[in-house]
Amino acid sequence: MVNPLNLTGHNKNIEETKLPRFECTRCGACCRDDFLLVTVTGSDIVRIAAVLGLSPNEMLKALDFYVVSDGETKPIGLEKFPSVATESGLSYISLKKMENGECVFLKENLCMIHPVRPVVCRSFPFVFDESNGQRTWGLSAKKEICPGLATGPQVSEIELGELADTILPDIQLYREFVKEWNDNQLSPSALDLLKTINSDTSRHKIL
Ligand code: SF4
Repeated sequence: MVNPLNLTGHNKNIEETKLPRFECTRCGACCRDDFLLVTVTGSDIVRIAAVLGLSPNEMLKALDFYVVSDGETKPIGLEKFPSVATESGLSYISLKKMENGECVFLKENLCMIHPVRPVVCRSFPFVFDESNGQRTWGLSAKKEICPGLATGPQVSEIELGELADTILPDIQLYREFVKEWNDNQLSPSALDLLKTINSDTSRHKIL
């Protein structure tokens, strides 16, 4: 989950000793914030579509495609997330937001897809990166958005490492798929993309 407008933007080594305190209060604020993009990977799409029994056409209606125009700076936090070729241009795929900012899968403040929620929801408010074998973590929200920060016990290196073990391979798998897709599409469409993901679900199953 990436907040283009409010990322704290200071990644730290996972071994960093000054780890934050965090305990989710289940307030649901992260599911209602209009500015938090809930980006999804191929495995997220596969899991959600399978559990809800959604066809590619139906899945398309549950997604937004966030396009960064030519010359526009990518929002902080999305620099390394893969943008995929669609008829609208290179897009970041995310769960649709309703007019009031709520996630399309939030009903009466409960997540309707909690067991198969996207990897960014599993790791929120933490984000991870890996470069030259070095894993780093950061925060994608501040206390004003996520009241669970600075409360509860201090997060351990082990917890962050386990989250990174879940998130980073999934994003890498998606990155490889997106590169292949972007290199091979002459007239890409979002629906064809979802059909392609749906036609080879084994490729996207990691969680
Ligand atoms: S905003 Fe933070 S505390 Fe509230 S539900 Fe989301 S992760 Fe939990």
